[in-house]
Amino acid sequence: METTKCLIIGSGPAGYTAAIYAARADLKPVLYEGLQPGGQLTITTEVENFPGYPEGVQGPELMADLKKQAARFETDIRSGMITKVDFSSRPFHCWDENEKEIIAETVIIATGASAKWLGLESENKFNGFGVSACATCDGFFYRGKDVVIVGGGDTAAEEATYLAKLCRKVYLVHRRDELRASKAMQNKVFNTSNIELKWNHVIKEIVGEEQGFTRSVNGVILQNVQTKEEHQLNIDGVFIAIGHKPNSDIFAGQLELHENGYIKTTAGSTKTSVEGVFAAGDIQDEYYRQAVTAAGSGCMAAIEAERFLSFD
Ligand code: FAD
Ligand code: NAP
Repeated sequence: METTKCLIIGSGPAGYTAAIYAARADLKPVLYEGLQPGGQLTITTEVENFPGYPEGVQGPELMADLKKQAARFETDIRSGMITKVDFSSRPFHCWDENEKEIIAETVIIATGASAKWLGLESENKFNGFGVSACATCDGFFYRGKDVVIVGGGDTAAEEATYLAKLCRKVYLVHRRDELRASKAMQNKVFNTSNIELKWNHVIKEIVGEEQGFTRSVNGVILQNVQTKEEHQLNIDGVFIAIGHKPNSDIFAGQLELHENGYIKTTAGSTKTSVEGVFAAGDIQDEYYRQAVTAAGSGCMAAIEAERFLSFD
């Protein structure tokens, strides 16, 4: 058993930024990296919209830099997961995967959200090389090109209209014959001339080329779910927009969550339903889901934790 003023759960942009601020405020934070050290940006290539990198930066490199910066101020960074928490009284009790107990005066949750994937082997192979789960992040790389986006919800509709402004042609592939998206979003899709709907279709395979370490996508095999007929569509990029899952399972019953599993925070802050527990980044934000907004809210969480302890 050990004690800390501030336990940070997660090592994405939110977690490391919280660590930088908490460590500089002398909270001597302990940070658990989780199963994906560095978070979601470690599975992408070029990041062009994180401020401070005029030429862009590789996602894993950006996260390695953030980790170094957090370590420089003596954050205690540990590999492993937090598997159980008890927020019923303060200080809070948390346990890691080896059942080590950590007693924390404040907790910053930065466990992110994971994009849902189709589960194809080829999707995994071309991930970051033509396959993406974030149009705002990667759409720019497909200017003037043809892309396919899969999904029928608001995200797919919104991202299809975003991509249509950049790309020559956007194919929206949906497994049914009507969209789940709101009427307003549907109308935007239907009124955009370079979006073509592929109703009742699913992606069976993503095809492309491999040259050394580089890969590129040049098509998808679509299957009509009714006739089972398959055909190839030649495109340059594939966007998956079938939803996200917040990594909040261990907080269910401990904190107030939205119906879809995101952690509820007070507007304009990172305060959760339990005083002294803060949530930053994608785990409490299904709207922006960007590295810079995650980092910004990580900063807010650390400042709020520090002030909470000062006035305690
Ligand atoms: P995440 O990055 O999701 O990190 C969550 C962390 O929590 C991970 O380290 C994980 O291991 C840890 N964790 C989870 N559960 C536990 C647990 N129980 N115990 C301990 N640790 C735990 N955004 C941009 O701004 N620009 C881009 O170009 C861009 N490109 C992207 C490309 C892809 C393919 C994807 C998927 C996303 C991209 N994004 C981009 C979005 C961006 O990655 C996220 O908004 C950002 O990473 C969210 O940061 P976060 O710190 O909230 O969580
Ligand atoms: P969502 O509403 O859950 O929609 C996911 C879509 O992906 C559905 O159309 C679903 O098909 C499809 N899908 C799921 N798994 C699939 C698979 N394996 N293969 C093929 N298709 C699959 O998710 P979302 O669009 O990300 O939206 C999440 C929430 O955020 C919603 O409440 C939404 O309203 C909200 N949101 C709002 C806005 C906005 O208002 N501007 C923007 C974005 C998101 P089925 O329809 O057949 O189930």
